[in-house]
Amino acid sequence: MSARVQAVCRKSRCQSCGAPIVWIKTVSGKSMPCDASPVYYTTAGGDDSKIVTMDGITISCEIITDTEKADGFGYIPHWGSCPGADKFKKGAKP
Ligand SMILES: [Zn+2]
Repeated sequence: MSARVQAVCRKSRCQSCGAPIVWIKTVSGKSMPCDASPVYYTTAGGDDSKIVTMDGITISCEIITDTEKADGFGYIPHWGSCPGADKFKKGAKP
């Protein structure tokens, strides 16, 4: 058994909406709650979306389903999809 991934990726549930999330430690040392399902992304297309890689790096990219064209996979920050996101966004207007 390998615990390699678990060091940076801790499963949990959102305290606002109860959705399954993972905590990913970013390069800045903060833990970021992300949707539990990984997504494929490419940086060759648009940059409308933001994902966090397993390495804790935030990337502006396009989320795609075509694995052939994907640069890799990452996780979507949960506050983008959380119905209770107000909590997260306090003081950070887009
Ligand atoms: Zn939530």
